[in-house]
Amino acid sequence: MATLRFKAIEESMKRKPLEVIPPSEKISDFYGIYVFDKVKMEKYLSNDAFDAVNEAIEQGQRIDRKMADQIASGMKTWAMGHGVTHYTHWFQPLTEGTAEKHDTFVELTSNGAAIEQFSGKLLAQQEPDASSFPSGGIRNTFEARGYTAWDPSSPAFILENTLIIPTIFISYTGEALDYKTPLLKALNSLDKSAVEVCQYFDKDVTKVISNLGWEQEYFLVDEAVYNARPDLILTGRTLMGHASAKNQQLEDQYFGQIPSRVLNFMKDLEFEAYKLGIPVKTRHNEVAPNQYEVAPIYEETNLAIDHNLLIMQLMRSVSRKHNFIVLLHEKPFAGINGSGKHNNWSVATNTGVNLLSPGKTPKSNMQFLTFLINTLAAVHKHNALIKASIASSGNQHRLGANEAPPAIISAFLGQQLNQMLDEIETRVTDEKMTPDEKTVIKLDIGKIPEILLDNTDRNRTSPFAFTGNKFEFRAVGSSANCASAMTALNAALAAQLMDFKTEVDKLIEKGVKKDEAILQILRKLIKSSKPIRFEGNGYSDEWKEEAAKRGLDCESSVPRVFDAYLTPQSQELFTRTKVFTHVEMEARAEVRLELYIKKVQIESRVLGDLVSNHILPTVLEYQSMLIENVTGLKALYSEADFKLLSARRLAQIKDISAAVEKIEKLLEEMVITRKDANKVEEARERAILYAEKIFPYFEEIRYHVDKLELIVDNKRWPLPKYRELLFIR
Ligand code: ADP
Ligand code: MG
Repeated sequence: MATLRFKAIEESMKRKPLEVIPPSEKISDFYGIYVFDKVKMEKYLSNDAFDAVNEAIEQGQRIDRKMADQIASGMKTWAMGHGVTHYTHWFQPLTEGTAEKHDTFVELTSNGAAIEQFSGKLLAQQEPDASSFPSGGIRNTFEARGYTAWDPSSPAFILENTLIIPTIFISYTGEALDYKTPLLKALNSLDKSAVEVCQYFDKDVTKVISNLGWEQEYFLVDEAVYNARPDLILTGRTLMGHASAKNQQLEDQYFGQIPSRVLNFMKDLEFEAYKLGIPVKTRHNEVAPNQYEVAPIYEETNLAIDHNLLIMQLMRSVSRKHNFIVLLHEKPFAGINGSGKHNNWSVATNTGVNLLSPGKTPKSNMQFLTFLINTLAAVHKHNALIKASIASSGNQHRLGANEAPPAIISAFLGQQLNQMLDEIETRVTDEKMTPDEKTVIKLDIGKIPEILLDNTDRNRTSPFAFTGNKFEFRAVGSSANCASAMTALNAALAAQLMDFKTEVDKLIEKGVKKDEAILQILRKLIKSSKPIRFEGNGYSDEWKEEAAKRGLDCESSVPRVFDAYLTPQSQELFTRTKVFTHVEMEARAEVRLELYIKKVQIESRVLGDLVSNHILPTVLEYQSMLIENVTGLKALYSEADFKLLSARRLAQIKDISAAVEKIEKLLEEMVITRKDANKVEEARERAILYAEKIFPYFEEIRYHVDKLELIVDNKRWPLPKYRELLFIR
């Protein structure tokens, strides 16, 4: 019966805001106290060891074992000063989130005494018994093992008495089994190719980094009501539930006041984030009820991703203290907005120049245009792959659903910049320009900063929008590891810059002046990448037609979207940038497919269980009560009166039976379809069956269940309703 639901609601209504006291008055007093950052390294390491770490961070130099020993020892001393007893390698397997295995520092000496030890060997490399992480068939689970290796570019930190060491995770034969390894390779490749291109403009540029500022959206629900929803517990989303009469239609949530229970959670989360050196900057309500966002100041991409994974972990633990559960799923509730994770992305030089920010002089603006246009060319060429990088079973609910970007990748520039590119494209018509033409172009290029200042035009329907000094990639899912998207995007730009340089150099060799050579190739790229530029409404049906005509990838079935991983074009990209070998690529595609299948399979099973064992029995009970009522009426009244008095009741009894019949038939069909699908050997084919044959049942079944929710007596309904899940006071 519905007792669990009512107990849960009662419990949730009794909650009081949990007071949180800041660790200190000023944030700067406790910011980063649990991070083994440069300040602490300087204090705890010898000069040599400190230099070794810095060189590893800045130039990717290897750290030798002797140095590693010194660094490990310094880390241990610092960590033990904070009461740390254990350490762990922290890695990002191809499932979701992060993985860790804790070991204590304690070792036994020959005479049996305990002593805290942490060697360079343990810092640098470990073999977790990780044979059950998905590997897409790379690693034979019986003989081979994967190992984790320290990533010095992301600092170690302390979480709950454990020293956490960010690492990569690779198979014994060197294939990546995680998200971080290919990301680091992509960033490295971008660094190399971007530096070479920057050299055209500024000889002082020796390093180019990619920056990422993520905006994490999430929902909060009360812990008690959550616990009364098996679908939320097992799948992260509600598989049924009629819309609340009031949801987001009044648009009163977005700028509304944050409820104090939630505000206290946010503050608590921020304090924890600050201690770990996560530069959280923004908190606010989102559009849907109970939906919020947290965003930090942007950081170097590898670190930003570690911080995003860490904050997702913190959100889960801190929310529990406040009797909330955080939902990171892309679509926890039907009918209201889902959650995404905008990836604000830019590239910058060691000389402090943001390459996606217009400069003050024509020269710096040439550099800006070079990076802008090459980005467009890269996204155009690899639009299908970039979409594959963000596709998932959760994100499929969001993309193309008129609240999130469409399932077609396009880039938005804003009117002025668009015009500017059009002008460059049309004006430079000859191989050799007249001095006048050159001046006109230089004048145009020189005036970019002014026009961008008032370029406040923001197209919310675009998946990849230029916002003044960065691109905002909006199609990333809220639960995703951003590394997947950032690997594809940065690798695509890296390869594009290589091509750009080759072409420019060819012209220079032929005797064309450098500036002219650059302009000529840019003009060519503006032309060829034109199909990716779209300023209109990405939600419209016309765009779908138009995009198909332009040759953009319009596939929306997730398993088919993954095909883009294995096209010759993607293979070429990843081989050239050394991001993935072909084996790794195949393995990765397989893992994504398997994960997709498993998620949809779990949802299908949970739906079956909930409907058969929770909903239908309740509905039938209620119907029996109606039948009893009608039978009673029949006994009391004459035939004529009975007809008059029971017509609606009889119709309702019939409606319920019809709905129950329909639901049971659909359930049966779904189970048969699932059984058939499970017999299919090949992952891609099986995933397609799950996406195109099984998944559609969910919507149909839920439609009838949600209608029944409105018919059945409220006090019998077993699951907390949307209105009970969605409005935290
Ligand atoms: P909103 O999109 O909500 O208006 P902003 O676009 O101002 O907010 O900022 C969102 C994120 O973009 C923040 O994490 C911010 O640090 C980041 N950001 C700002 N400038 C850059 C940049 N040059 N490169 C990467 N990220 C940036
Ligand atoms: Mg933004």
